[in-house]
Amino acid sequence: MSLFTDISIPQLNITYKQPLGLYINNEFVASSDHKQIETVNPATNTVITSFYAASDADVNTAVTAARQAYEQVWSKTSAEHRGRLLHNLGQLIVENKELLAAIETLDSGKPYYTNALADLDQISQLTTYYAGAADKYNKGQMIPISHEKYAYTVRSPYGVVAQIVPWNYPLAMASWKIQGALAAGNTIVIKPAENTSLSLLYFAQLIEKAGFPPGVVNVLPGLGAVTGSSLASHTDVDKIAFTGSTAVGQKIMALAATSNLKAVTLECGGKSPAVIFDDANLDEAVKWTTAGIFYNSGQNCTANSRLLVHESVYDEFLEKFTKYAQEEWKFGSSLDPFDESCTVGPVISKAQYDRIQGYIEHGKSQEKLSSKEIGSPVESEGFFIPPTIFIDVTAESKLAQEEIFGPVAVVLKFKDYDEAIALANNNAYGLASAVFTEDIRKANFFARDIRAGTVWINSSNDEEISVPFGGFKMSGIGRELGESGLEAYTQTKAVHVNISKL
Ligand code: NAD
Repeated sequence: MSLFTDISIPQLNITYKQPLGLYINNEFVASSDHKQIETVNPATNTVITSFYAASDADVNTAVTAARQAYEQVWSKTSAEHRGRLLHNLGQLIVENKELLAAIETLDSGKPYYTNALADLDQISQLTTYYAGAADKYNKGQMIPISHEKYAYTVRSPYGVVAQIVPWNYPLAMASWKIQGALAAGNTIVIKPAENTSLSLLYFAQLIEKAGFPPGVVNVLPGLGAVTGSSLASHTDVDKIAFTGSTAVGQKIMALAATSNLKAVTLECGGKSPAVIFDDANLDEAVKWTTAGIFYNSGQNCTANSRLLVHESVYDEFLEKFTKYAQEEWKFGSSLDPFDESCTVGPVISKAQYDRIQGYIEHGKSQEKLSSKEIGSPVESEGFFIPPTIFIDVTAESKLAQEEIFGPVAVVLKFKDYDEAIALANNNAYGLASAVFTEDIRKANFFARDIRAGTVWINSSNDEEISVPFGGFKMSGIGRELGESGLEAYTQTKAVHVNISKL
């Protein structure tokens, strides 16, 4: 198999050269065992192309490349220079925005106009942020001890970091990890998800064009159980950062512990509540919460998949929610995520389609539960699931407790603040939460009492790259974005200085 192939995206009149190899030392190479993975367009269920999948031996080669680059070049590069290279990368991202977004849509099914271009805007913004932050992040401390002694601390990069990312925001999740780690002075081996590797492989070429030396960023597509677990257990990897399911996060942490006790950051699953009080502006709440569950076909770790609504506004909220969703959250006229009228694309794969349909069938089989399909089912080979809502869901049910990761909202009713907060906290996850009320005290009680890494007051799923992101409880460990994105990739070194004479 060749290392590049021509791919056409006729909807945008684009033909481009797609790299298909592992990216090690700024070169695309075949995998050592020549194994490949097919990638499928989720809107049509047709194979786009195949790319090479990294073996254990390839992981070893890439980690060695990253180690050499760290020791010989990158650890000796000034923060100012790292920032300059990130600025170059930011410029190249802007120049390649449409193509990168198009690859993302082709490979993941996310709507081009409403989602993929927005992802690229965020990536561009965060690249500029970390370019500027590279030489300004200095959390060192000077600690006076006595007349003749003092100590100082420096934040040191870890060295070689491994990063494993999921398919729901392929390039954005990779960028959340790559740009911060580079600004902080680490070298990287990153593994994209097996069903969305194309955009990161294309992106690798921009890394080289921006001027990053060989071995600083290595991209290893491959299977989770092979490439991913090999990275997690490699003894020359100093830190691993992962975004994906809680079950895999637990495996990675166990491998990290038993190999070399490498540091771990985990961004895992969620079942985030949105609480709508009786004094909320219901139109605003509906606008935010429909986006919070249906954007990206509900494939968001922070999706407000549990809607908790005060009993006195329950019926009115449901009516408005359904009407607004019917008007705004649609597959589009041609079942094509490149269509401007598409706001809900297919879900990523047949496996996810079946998983989500399993939850929907389960919900429909529960006698006391009513469901509403907001959109109509469609005839398509692609993996389209109509936005769906289940009402009068009980707190302990499977639908209320488990992450569905699709366009499926569940709605529960509450009587007062105490019941609302108890319901909101009644879940193993703690990634995000939203509260809708015009009472500033109630909003702040909620922010105090909820056990979640993010609280949105009168909004939902509203991200800012300068604001830390991460989960409580089984949603993860550590934070990304903002200064936390640099802190996550550095560790404290304490230097004791003795100026006394014997
Ligand atoms: P996943 O955990 O199956 O896969 C994520 C990544 O881990 C992929 O690159 C995969 O190849 C890799 N992987 C799989 N098995 C592995 C193993 N044994 N060892 C090492 N790596 C392995 O998750 P997914 O199905 O791709 O993504 C959906 C899940 O990710 C959802 O549960 C969602 O909540 C979560 N997610 C969380 C966040 C967050 O920021 N908290 C963001 C996006 C997605």
